[in-house]
Amino acid sequence: MTIRIVTLFAGLFLSHSLAVGAGSGPEWTDVAEADKTLMGDYVGEWSNAPDKSYQDINPRLCAQVINVDKGKYHLKFTQDHNLRAEVYYSGEARLKGDEIVLKDGDWNVRVTQSGLTGKGSVGGKVANISLKRVQLGSPTMGAKPPKGAIVLFDGKDIDEWEHDDGRAITWTLLDDGVMEINPKAANKDANPPIGGGIQTKRKFKDVRYHMEFRYPVEPGKSGQGRGNSGLFFQGYEAQILNSYGLDGLWNELGALYKMSPPKVNAARPPMEWQTYDINYTAPKYEKGKLKENARITVRLNGIVVQKNEEIRHQTAHRQADRAIPPPDKAMPISLQDHSNRIQFRNIWVKEL
Ligand code: MG
Repeated sequence: MTIRIVTLFAGLFLSHSLAVGAGSGPEWTDVAEADKTLMGDYVGEWSNAPDKSYQDINPRLCAQVINVDKGKYHLKFTQDHNLRAEVYYSGEARLKGDEIVLKDGDWNVRVTQSGLTGKGSVGGKVANISLKRVQLGSPTMGAKPPKGAIVLFDGKDIDEWEHDDGRAITWTLLDDGVMEINPKAANKDANPPIGGGIQTKRKFKDVRYHMEFRYPVEPGKSGQGRGNSGLFFQGYEAQILNSYGLDGLWNELGALYKMSPPKVNAARPPMEWQTYDINYTAPKYEKGKLKENARITVRLNGIVVQKNEEIRHQTAHRQADRAIPPPDKAMPISLQDHSNRIQFRNIWVKEL
C-alpha cells in the first residue's frame, strides 16, 4: 500500500509519497498470514452430547481465538458472544504449521481455515465441537452523516483536525480513505515534532458522534500497551484498546477510563473495523455552579456498553488528577496518541 504523508505547514499543502510507513515498522500489522485469518470469533454447536448434559440442553457454543504473541494464542469458549456468559474453558494454544492446536485434558481442538473442530467438556461430560469463523461486525458500520451533521473525516483530508498543541497534522492519510496514528514515540528525534494527540479545530458541547476504527495485531504487547488510543469529549475519555477476549474492565474498550467498565465486552478482533456511536451531554451550570454532571451513552459495535452514564470525575491516569472540576465551555473532541497505530475512518458529529 502506498502511503501519503500529508503535512500542513505555514499554509502550504505538502504531499509526498513514501514506499511504506515512517518510523514504526514496514507493516501496519505485524504478524504471519496464518495468524491474520485464524484469530477471531467462531460460532456453532456442540454435537454428540450425552443425554440431558449441559451441552445437550444448551447446544450453542462460541469461541474466541485471541492472539497473544507470534504463534501463541488464547482460546476461550462461552455459550454466547457479547454477553457476560461464564467461560466454559480458557487456555493456551500454539500455531503448528498452518493450524492452531489446543490439547489439554478433555479439550482437544484444531483451528484451520475451514473452522474450529474437536472435543471439549463441561461438567465432566465430553461432546464434539464444530464452529465456523464469523465476523460479528456492527449495524452502524458505514453510517452516513445525518442532515446537519459536520463531517470530521471522510478520507479526503484531515483539515478538521490539528494536534493538541496547535501543530499541523502529522498523522498519516492512507490512500483508502483511512487515517492512522503516526506515533510520537516512533518519531522521537523528529524536528519539527511528529505525532501526538489530535483534536478538532471546532469546539463542541452536546453531540451525537460516529467513528470507525481498528487496531493492528501487535504480537508480544499486552494490556494497556496494545491497541491503545482514546476518544475524548470535553476531556472525558471513552477508551480505545485492543480488548479482544479481555474481561471488559474499567480501562478497556468501551469503558469510561477508570470510571465505568463496559456492560459487556463487545470488542472485535484486531484488524476488523469497529464502530463507536456516542451521545454526549455536557455538564450543566447555573450562575457558575455545577448543577448536573455530564452524561454519556456509548454504543460499541451497535451494543450499548454505557447507558446514559453520569460522568462523575475527570479522566486521569493519576487518582489525584481526577478531582479537577468539569469544564463549563465548548471544547474540541480529541483522539489520543498512545504509541499504537490505530486507524480511523468515517467520522462525523451532529450538535444536539
Ligand atoms: Mg487510551
